Amino acid sequence: MSLDAFVRCTCIREGKAKPHPFPDRLTFDESGEPTLTGDPSEEEWEAHDQWVGESCEHEGYLLSMFLGNITRLGNLRTFLRGLQGSPGPRFPILLEKVLYDGTHTGDWISSKDAAKLLKEVNTVLHSSDILADSEKEFFTNMKLLCEASIATGNPITF
Ligand SMILES: [Zn+2]
Repeated sequence: MSLDAFVRCTCIREGKAKPHPFPDRLTFDESGEPTLTGDPSEEEWEAHDQWVGESCEHEGYLLSMFLGNITRLGNLRTFLRGLQGSPGPRFPILLEKVLYDGTHTGDWISSKDAAKLLKEVNTVLHSSDILADSEKEFFTNMKLLCEASIATGNPITF
């Protein structure tokens, strides 16, 4: 059990992707995932899923990161709670939307929130002398995900 995070590329939205099998039914759900309108049959979903996987050179994703297993994420949560102060650095998005559970999938952080999340991540990276290598790796990966999300306008999805 572990946590992965992704940021989609913008090829489909920018018309740089391979033609969709049913272009007039292609849409995006609230997490930015390409999906089909109407009441697609199993064959139509299969054709759509196959298209998503080959739609562009990125296979639909600009960035895909393994963030850690449940133990590592639990340790990071404890570490961050210890780092919070009053007054002082607070990490609401990291704690409530990223590390709240070691295995959440299917949720996402909007690119607007990714900008706020990047500030939290930079605050932690600022004290990099107290970070262990695995912690540094996690926060560096989070930074890359935030930057990709801000650059594309696509959410960070888990
Ligand atoms: Zn692409």
